[in-house]
Amino acid sequence: MNIFDSALLRLKKAAKYYHLPDWFIKQLSTPERTIEFNFLLKRDSGKIEMRRGYRVQYNNLLGPYKGGLRYHPKVDMDEVKSLAFWMMIKNAVADIPFGGGKGKGGIEVDPRSLSEKELERLTRQFTKELAPNIGPFMDVPAPDVNTNAKIMDWIVDEYVREIKDQKSKIKKNELKAVVTGKSVKNGGSKGREEATGLGGFFVLEELIKKLKFKKPLTVAIQGFGNVGSNIASILYKNGFKVVAVSDVHGAIYDKSDKGFNIDLVRKCKEEKGFLSGCYCIGSVCDLAKKYNDGLISNEELLELPVDILIPAALENVVTDKNAKKIRAKIVFEMANGPTTAEADEILNKKGIMVLPDVLCNSGGVIVSYFEWLQNIKGQKWSLAKVNKSLQKKMKESFEEIWKIHKEKKVNFRTAAYILALQRLAHKAGL
Ligand code: NAD
Repeated sequence: MNIFDSALLRLKKAAKYYHLPDWFIKQLSTPERTIEFNFLLKRDSGKIEMRRGYRVQYNNLLGPYKGGLRYHPKVDMDEVKSLAFWMMIKNAVADIPFGGGKGKGGIEVDPRSLSEKELERLTRQFTKELAPNIGPFMDVPAPDVNTNAKIMDWIVDEYVREIKDQKSKIKKNELKAVVTGKSVKNGGSKGREEATGLGGFFVLEELIKKLKFKKPLTVAIQGFGNVGSNIASILYKNGFKVVAVSDVHGAIYDKSDKGFNIDLVRKCKEEKGFLSGCYCIGSVCDLAKKYNDGLISNEELLELPVDILIPAALENVVTDKNAKKIRAKIVFEMANGPTTAEADEILNKKGIMVLPDVLCNSGGVIVSYFEWLQNIKGQKWSLAKVNKSLQKKMKESFEEIWKIHKEKKVNFRTAAYILALQRLAHKAGL
C-alpha cells in the first residue's frame, strides 16, 4: 500500500464512527492543489543542476494552508501529499483558528551534499518559484526535516524581495508571517525551537497520569534532530530514563537501564557530528566496557524492551515486518507517519498503545500559530506565555481524544481522527 493510501485508511476508519456525506470524505481525501516544479541550482564549482520542488496545498477549510518544508533525497509527491493530509488532521485536532488548511512542501535534495552558500541559493531559487503561491494569508511554510530557522530567514528575505514590485495588500509588518520557525531576531517566536518536543512531553505526562504509570519509565528515541533531541532533554530533566537514542548513522543503548545524561549526549553529538561516536561518555563509559553491545542499529532500537518507544525521525519505520517484535508498552509518535496502517493493526492486537502523530507532535504547529499571530499583531510573547499557552492547548486536545477513546472504545488514533472530522465538518456547516 502506498503511503498516501495508508494515510487515508485512518480517515475512512474514523468516518465509520462519525457519519458524514460521501462527498465530504472524498473532499478530505483529495488535495486541493499540488504544485511540482523544476528549478536550477548553481553549484560552487559553476556546474548547473536541476532540482525538483513540491508543495501540496491540501485543504483550507479552517484557514490558510500551513505546513513544513522538507529537504531530503527521497521527497516525492506521494510523501508530500501524505504529510499535507496529516497537517490538515493535526490542525483540526489542535483546534488552531487559522490552522486546518494545510500545505506541505519539499525539495528532492541531500542537503549534506551542499555547501552553505549552495543551500542558500537552493532555498532562494525555490522561494522565487513558489512566491506567488505562498503568503501570510495563503500558505505559510515552516521547518521540517533538514530545514531550520536560518532557512526560514532566507525564505522571508527572498519572499519580501519577490513580492516588492507587486501591489500587495499585505502590510509590511505582516510580511514576516509568510513562514514560521524563523530566528527570534527575525520575528520568530520564543520557544518555537523546542515546541514540538515540549508539546509531546505535555501529552506524555497527561497520559501516564491517566494510566497511573509510575516514574522512572524507560524510553528509546529514534532520531536526534530538532524533535528527538529536544524531547530527549525534556524527558531526561523530568525523571524519565532515556536508555537509547539514534540518528541516521545508528543507535546507542544503555543496557543497564540507568539512562543517558542527555546533556552530555547532546554536547558529544555536537562535537562529533554523529551519535555512535558518543557511546563512551561520562559514567556511561564504564557501562560501555561492561557491555560491548552499546552500539545498535536503528532497527534494533525499535525492538528494545522499554516502556515508551518514540519514533522521531521519518515515516514508515514500524511496519508489518517488525510490528510483531515491538516490545514497548507505548509507541509515542513524534515523527509524522512512523507507523503503517498494517502495523497499527498488529500493535492494537498486541495491546500496545499508539499515541498518534497528529496529537503528539502538534506542539510545533501550535507555536507556529503563536508566531504567526505575534507577527500579524506586532506582539512579542515571553517564553513563559508561549509555553503556558502551548501546555493548555496540548492538554485540551489530549482530554478530548481521551474522552472519545473511552466513550467510543476506539484506539487513540481513531479518536484523534474522529475529533478532527467533527471540527472539519462543523466548519463546513455539516
Ligand atoms: P531533523 O532533520 O531535525 O532530524 C531528523 C533526525 O532523524 C536526525 O537525527 C537524523 O539523523 C535522523 N534520521 C534521518 N533518517 C533516519 C533514519 N533512516 N533512521 C534513523 N534516524 C534517521 O528533523 P525533525 O524536525 O526533528 O523532524 C523529525 C520528524 O518529526 C519528522 O517526521 C518531521 O516531519 C516530524 N515533525 C517535525 C516538527 C518540527 O517542528 N521540526 C514538527 C512536527 C513533526
